[in-house]
Amino acid sequence: MAGILFIISAPSGSGKSTLVSQLRSLVDGLEFSVSYTTRSPRGSEQEGREYNFTTRENFERMVAAGEFLEWAEVFGNYYGTAAGSLKAAEAQGKDMILDIDVQGAGQVLRKMPEAVSIFIMPPNPDVLKTRLQNRSRAERVTDASVIRLRLDQAFHEIDRLWDYQFAIVNDVLDEAVAQLRAIVLLERMRHGGRGGEGTPEDHAQWKKIAARCVTRPPSARLLLAVRNFGQSSRD
Ligand code: ADP
Ligand code: 5GP
Repeated sequence: MAGILFIISAPSGSGKSTLVSQLRSLVDGLEFSVSYTTRSPRGSEQEGREYNFTTRENFERMVAAGEFLEWAEVFGNYYGTAAGSLKAAEAQGKDMILDIDVQGAGQVLRKMPEAVSIFIMPPNPDVLKTRLQNRSRAERVTDASVIRLRLDQAFHEIDRLWDYQFAIVNDVLDEAVAQLRAIVLLERMRHGGRGGEGTPEDHAQWKKIAARCVTRPPSARLLLAVRNFGQSSRD
């Protein structure tokens, strides 16, 4: 595609939505793909803004009609990216962000290996649990089994982070936002796009920041976070 496709995945509660929303307020020209889901709206979510909320029946019809670039079942609900939303961004030469789970990311990367893949990593299981609990409280959902399920799933998802080009440890929010921004701006520079953003000093700075987030070789910080989840490097 003419624009760059950024795939962002993370265990639920890692702070992906927070990071993406801050990124979009700092960087222009990033289109966000609004997924389809069969889950119910949460908190202040609005139809067509966070998700296109739909029925299982309609979702299955769309799958059968081949309308999805990728889709997956996550926590008992279907989620999918309509192929059409990517085509629209492509036609306008816009960069696009897909916020999708590890299964969906695998499907897209097989079809579009040129996509830039970024994994958001929680620093440790305790922090992840606290974030999930805080969000549940804020949204007035207090089902402990939902948190348990999402925490358990996090361990499996983290196993897949080595499939991604970049991984950001979301510990201090401002730092994680700066890293995400640097990756996006660096990739734009590499793709020679968007009217030559930044000075040579900016470019050097983005390179330096993004280099700390590559998964190969992983930084000491990433390895520590991975070990906190009882896992080790795949390399
Ligand atoms: P996700 O989209 O990955 O499921 P959210 O963006 O909804 O996660 O974040 C989960 C919770 O964690 C929210 O309450 C959010 O405000 C909080 N959060 C996100 N990033 C940080 C951070 N770096 N430090 C502290 N809290 C954070
Ligand atoms: P949530 O219900 O917390 O919004 O999202 C649950 C999980 O579904 C997250 O990991 C999120 O990235 C993922 N997800 C959201 N949209 C899509 C999509 O279109 N496709 C896939 N495969 N996963 C998605």
